[in-house]
Amino acid sequence: MEILFSVVPVCVQFQCPVCETGYLIATGKKLMSNPPKHEHVCNRRLCSSIVVLETAYPQLRNIVNSEPLEFPPDFKEQEKKAIN
Ligand SMILES: [Zn+2]
Repeated sequence: MEILFSVVPVCVQFQCPVCETGYLIATGKKLMSNPPKHEHVCNRRLCSSIVVLETAYPQLRNIVNSEPLEFPPDFKEQEKKAIN
């Protein structure tokens, strides 16, 4: 039986560890280490620090609601009608 949960998309930023004001943006340059690392630049122009992280930022994630969605008992029938 399928159980449906709602999700909330969120954007995860990484705060610059140098200026602690800007956010790190992946430059697209990867360092071939194991695991591979991603070069980032601080988006604050006065800082512009280069930082290497294992994960590329900004990153989109989905937060899944812990409570399943509730539908009326005939939901599946309504879904079929919507498709046809
Ligand atoms: Zn910075």
